Amino acid sequence: MNSLVLKVVPLKPDMNSSSNQTHKFKFISRPPLNTMGLTIFTVMSKLAADCGAINLSQGFPDFQAEPALFESTLRAMQAGHNQYPPMAGTPELRLAIADKVETLYGVRYDAEHEITVTAGATQAIFTAIAAFVRSGDEVIVFEPVYDSYVPAIETVGGQAVYAQLNFPGYKPDWNRVQALITPRTRMIIINSPHNPTGSLLADDDLSALAELTRDTDIVVLSDEVYEHIIFDGERRRSVASHPELAARSLIVSSFGKTYHITGWKIGYVFGAPELISEFRKVHQFNVFTVNTPCQLGIADYMSVASRHLGLAEFYQKKRDYFRAQLHASRFELLPCRGTYFQVARYDAISDLPDREFAKWLTRERGVAVIPVSAFYQNGRDDHVVRFCFAKQETTLAAAGEQLRRV
Ligand code: PMP
Ligand code: GLN
Repeated sequence: MNSLVLKVVPLKPDMNSSSNQTHKFKFISRPPLNTMGLTIFTVMSKLAADCGAINLSQGFPDFQAEPALFESTLRAMQAGHNQYPPMAGTPELRLAIADKVETLYGVRYDAEHEITVTAGATQAIFTAIAAFVRSGDEVIVFEPVYDSYVPAIETVGGQAVYAQLNFPGYKPDWNRVQALITPRTRMIIINSPHNPTGSLLADDDLSALAELTRDTDIVVLSDEVYEHIIFDGERRRSVASHPELAARSLIVSSFGKTYHITGWKIGYVFGAPELISEFRKVHQFNVFTVNTPCQLGIADYMSVASRHLGLAEFYQKKRDYFRAQLHASRFELLPCRGTYFQVARYDAISDLPDREFAKWLTRERGVAVIPVSAFYQNGRDDHVVRFCFAKQETTLAAAGEQLRRV
């Protein structure tokens, strides 16, 4: 075989490797992003793969979406819809979203000016933060806090201010939140159903938030990616159906969660036109737009409402099955009212810190989980781990068998 010889031409003659100087990149005036470690989801999924463990850590289904979704997307590709769609998303998908939101929450959002399709909720959240938060601005988040919020806030020069969902009920204390509001508070981020705890905000929480933000210019960013995954007959709640809050809110959802396609990275944001127009200023230079055939495929698939309305029942069965698996274990299960995550205390099993416990469980017992301290800035550790039950029964049964032996 002939070997290929590459001749490398240095960009500048004085950077030639014949000199003894080593060239190291140095941060000169800007600080490195010190607080930003590798996301816990990547850490635990890699460890699970390395150990051949059952991966109940990172949240994603281990089963497929329905063939009808793949077929509608393939049809869009084959029909030639493979070039850039409009910046805010295809009209078909924005209309389908407007219809869904109206049916669920009783409010009509205008597809032209109030809805934007995004490359997953992560991009929607990052873009919303970049659009509204400036250097020195404060953003209130609730711990345990989903891991992308604070890095996004800090990347744009903002400062995260931490409120708490109080352990073990994971309810906010609005008097304490009030004390955190200052003239520099630019945004409050809420997430319900809540990852990682599976808790829900109630009507009185939304009323308290409306009261706290009244007469301020605070933007509410409401992460509702698990909007369809609520249990035990809970009523679906969105800030969209609270008129006062809706006026100051950007609401984010994700098709990844709803249609079992986390790898497609597609979601959306909606809100008042003044907010969405600011959002789009950043979005157009952040991703510009999102892939066309998936948008058209999803728009078509969404026309059958049972596909999203049936999700609560679908996941409630999985939740109940998984909880039954752990019934005879030494894990103490906390309530799970929404999301596809179950949190559990392990005090009866070990006094290891939760990160150590999660690694031990992965390596020695073959089940990977997420340590909940990863969602606290100061590493607060209540000895709680998170299991993802978006899995086939066989996976949950195999995990259950291992976990009962712990
Ligand atoms: N917010 C929350 C609370 C999440 O759990 C996730 C993902 N699991 C996201 C946002 C990001 O969603 P996406 O995969 O659509 O970017
Ligand atoms: N949101 C998913 C979870 O909570 C993970 C998404 C990611 O890996 N960034 O597990």
